[in-house]
Amino acid sequence: MPRFQKYEQKIRRYKDKLKKLITRIGISYTDEFELDNEIPKKLLLPCHIGILFFGEYDKALFEKIKHYLTQVFDSFFFTIRNLGTYNFSFELISKGVKTEYGEIKKTSGRIKIHPTNKFYQILINKRIEENLGMIIAVTDLPLYSSSDDNILFLFGETHLKHRCCVISSLKLKEQFYNRLANFKIFEQRVIKEVIHEIGHIILGPDHCLKNSCVMRFSHDVKKIDEKSFDFCNNCKTKLEQIRTQHNF
Ligand SMILES: [Zn+2]
Ligand SMILES: [Zn+2]
Repeated sequence: MPRFQKYEQKIRRYKDKLKKLITRIGISYTDEFELDNEIPKKLLLPCHIGILFFGEYDKALFEKIKHYLTQVFDSFFFTIRNLGTYNFSFELISKGVKTEYGEIKKTSGRIKIHPTNKFYQILINKRIEENLGMIIAVTDLPLYSSSDDNILFLFGETHLKHRCCVISSLKLKEQFYNRLANFKIFEQRVIKEVIHEIGHIILGPDHCLKNSCVMRFSHDVKKIDEKSFDFCNNCKTKLEQIRTQHNF
């Protein structure tokens, strides 16, 4: 019936509009509207990887990250690409934001923290668009976990299925603890956390118990400083096995 068709078309149009809106907002509170994209096909290795920055970073930081990734992951990546700086729209920056008291700087009052899903949605779209196997975000914004909103001010998180991860550099700065800025230490921490989260995408969610291993879980910056940039022998063996499975 033509009248029916008219309604059907109207509903379809609204549905598309809604879908677009959700993709743009990149955050939703119900499971139904959780990350908008399909789970990607099985990861093929080696792959291309990209790093997207949210915030102002020294230009040399990317090169340093790239240098370390090439060393520790060896032949896992065809290319390591700098995807540049992402600029949030005014609308998107406030989406999903919670205000919480900072853990350490209690005197500075409440600060705005952002859900990891907001970053994941941007990263998923970018990963598809740029044809990347995996993608990573480095942001100076404070984060909370979209899968568990009790986890606040996290250093980093990985979405294994969507093969993307996000690092918050805020708490990696010495200034956050009311100490003198130290750029070298800051960079080292960012690099370790980047390697750690990419390690999760490749090796899975488990943490390593070896103190010096980059896959060790870090509760605080002291623990990050204590660990090395590299994988322990046990984790290296696992990487080797993956290499063999993928024939490279
Ligand atoms: Zn971890
Ligand atoms: Zn290990």
